[in-house]
Amino acid sequence: MSNHGEQALRRPFLRHLAYLCDYEKGGDTTTAIALQQTPQNIVYWFASNKCPNKEAGMADKTKRFLEEVLGSLKSLKSDAAEGVASELFDKAVAFSSRRIEDYVKILGREVDFVLHRLEQFDLQKDNAFWADLRAIREAFCEPIKICRMCYNMNSKFYETLQLKAVSGQPLAERFGTICHIIGRLNHTLKAVKLVVKTALLQPQLFDDFQVSRATSDPRSPPPLRGRNPTPSEIAGRMVSSPGSIVSLREALRDLDQKFGIASELRRQCAASTWRPRVHAELTLLNHFWAQNLEFVDADRYIGCSKPACYCCYHYIQAHPGRFILPPSHNSIYLNWKAPDIYDATDEKKIKTREDVLNEMAKKIRIEVLAQIVEKRGPASWRPDSLTEISTVRFRACFRSAKDPETNIWIDEGSSETLNEDGELEDRLERQGEGESEIESEDDEGGGVPLVSLRD
Ligand SMILES: [Zn+2]
Repeated sequence: MSNHGEQALRRPFLRHLAYLCDYEKGGDTTTAIALQQTPQNIVYWFASNKCPNKEAGMADKTKRFLEEVLGSLKSLKSDAAEGVASELFDKAVAFSSRRIEDYVKILGREVDFVLHRLEQFDLQKDNAFWADLRAIREAFCEPIKICRMCYNMNSKFYETLQLKAVSGQPLAERFGTICHIIGRLNHTLKAVKLVVKTALLQPQLFDDFQVSRATSDPRSPPPLRGRNPTPSEIAGRMVSSPGSIVSLREALRDLDQKFGIASELRRQCAASTWRPRVHAELTLLNHFWAQNLEFVDADRYIGCSKPACYCCYHYIQAHPGRFILPPSHNSIYLNWKAPDIYDATDEKKIKTREDVLNEMAKKIRIEVLAQIVEKRGPASWRPDSLTEISTVRFRACFRSAKDPETNIWIDEGSSETLNEDGELEDRLERQGEGESEIESEDDEGGGVPLVSLRD
């Protein structure tokens, strides 16, 4: 297999392996994996948003799971592959049983609702569709069965579901959720198959390996507690010319009247739940960067169980380490922080982080100002110091939507638009996989959007 071919399989392998390790719904167990090449062997470095608390006696069950999975794939022969895949599938479903149960609960709620509401008038039109939907309902009590069923789903049935989820159709949102959850439930078997395929095609990744966790930086205390800045004060730091500051303050006053942003800001600043943490992919990025570790095949790729959030994406993009840009769902979390630098004397690393954060701040500032203009509606104010706004290709990254489970406003930006940016192409991972691969549930506990203005 050529280097390019190996990379094309190795990247999805890492991402799917990370998915299998992400055993709970929500952000705590979001997992990232990267491969270090040492002279002796390969090290599977992994990190999660939240580390098990060793002091409280919590075992690292992800490490054990990963070691077992990789161990079972060592020296795999093709005639044994099917049996091993079946065992791995059982193990993976058991490991992620809480996540799967959560999905099944949501799916059950939605399927029951549409069956109840639509069967009377739609039943005669498409008997086969309703029969398939009922078959899914009947498989709910067996996690293995429902996951397998979602993986083997009849394509005509899935197409019909997608058509019913098109905006404007009756109960479109419900059908949209059903499609999404089926995509999630299908993922476990899909991931297992890809991991097994990798073991057959690239056995060198499994010959001699070790699994190590990169520990997360501690969470930070609420960063703005005590300062409680007002929108007016923040405006003074966002633009430089006095005219722009006045205009921006006016715009923010308008928005405050419409959306109550000042009280929301006060509430967030005082919230004890505002405890920023480093996301898994940045923990690994920092780990490899700080120690100058060598990647397998010099492929600076970090696989993650979920697409990157807005801040992680921009951190990786601005970082000089040339790490491969991941796909992003563009969600923004207040509970995000940049990796710590432990050696306070390492001026080079400190400067690098400062530069990365400054670069990020530049982009965020432009997008926040654009959103203020957009949400305020037609007004006389134009940010004179930011003429580049008119030329920026705005992603749809500030369209907000409410997460049905957490009741939190999240962003619905599409990662696809990132590909439009020519300068990112070289470093952007080409996924080559279906849209269902992108996990759009952004349910990191406690996550809130940076800007939660609503129409
Ligand atoms: Zn992130």
